[in-house]
Amino acid sequence: MGKSWSKQEVTGILSSRDPRLLDELLEAADRCRRDSVGANVYLRGLIEFSNECRRNCFYCGIRKSNYSIRRYRLDNDEIITLAKSALDAGYSSLALQSGESEDSREINKVVQLIRSIKTQSRAWDNTGRGLGITLSIGELTFDQYKELWDAGAHRYLLRIEASDPRLFSRIHPPDQSFEKRLKCLDDLRTIGYQVGTGIMVGLPGQSVNNLVRDLQFFVEKDIDMLGMGPYIPHPNTPLYKKQVPDFEPFSMTLKIMALARLMMPDINIVCSTALLTLNPRGLELGLKAGANVVMPVMTPEDNRSDYSLYNNKHYTRPQELIERIRRYGYTVGLWTWGDSRHYAVRQVQ
Ligand code: SAH
Repeated sequence: MGKSWSKQEVTGILSSRDPRLLDELLEAADRCRRDSVGANVYLRGLIEFSNECRRNCFYCGIRKSNYSIRRYRLDNDEIITLAKSALDAGYSSLALQSGESEDSREINKVVQLIRSIKTQSRAWDNTGRGLGITLSIGELTFDQYKELWDAGAHRYLLRIEASDPRLFSRIHPPDQSFEKRLKCLDDLRTIGYQVGTGIMVGLPGQSVNNLVRDLQFFVEKDIDMLGMGPYIPHPNTPLYKKQVPDFEPFSMTLKIMALARLMMPDINIVCSTALLTLNPRGLELGLKAGANVVMPVMTPEDNRSDYSLYNNKHYTRPQELIERIRRYGYTVGLWTWGDSRHYAVRQVQ
């Protein structure tokens, strides 16, 4: 457990525009991560395997009603080839992400995929462990989450997006409920997954108070992993051009990451692609703010631009990403799963 923070303290930090305070916060977060989880940065080969989506989230470029993108779904065989190249490069873990489908045929395909990746990767690396698998495929039923777990997935990222039910309902259509999202997070935890959640920072209608509450939500939910990033308006979505808050989303995201690291020293924190997209120093400062997981994009070049949650998504070749992580003074956790330490600790309690 990190030190406990009062609401006033957190509000004061998030409201401040003093650059020295941001520097101090980043220094403190970096020290905390080195003491608690070390200087290793773990990699998840990110495969955005499908942009088919049944949802209509008001912020997201792959929403069902955006007819201006080409929809794709990679074949399982193609994904397995990418998985092999991730393991060959020493990444040891994959993050499989897609739009949402609840169609049982699609879920079965993902179950088959996970089984194949687990069986084949155990043979590829001779350690018997194979690739670790994080899923990020949205809201499903308890039974579907269980099937995917039984197949071998062991981490799941499902962002709450906004922990205030009113803000949640302003950025999602009525068929998506806040309660259902909470239930999904609870189901994932009950099944045994390492559970990750997160928010977008800078959403229309979001206040500093919302963000203070979001941090409290992460602590209360006792999460294992945090993945969050700045909101980047997408022209083909209903939220585009809606007035955004007057804080600056990049430095606000860094502050929240740093506070999250200080409050929850042993969780895994992802340095999001959105953070890298907004600012050329996104990786360097994200790591400093306490991130210890990076997800190099392995989606084939032909499909990458169609997985457009927002436009001009940042892309760095994985090898360059690794070199940069080292240049910034961290070690790269190759050939190891790099699971959330918090999860291991709560398993023995
Ligand atoms: N369908 C899956 C995963 C794909 S979306 C799911 O819902 O979990 C992954 C994340 O991208 C979302 O959780 C959201 O927080 C983020 N995202 C979507 N649109 C975005 C935008 N315009 N700007 C920044 N992040 C966005």
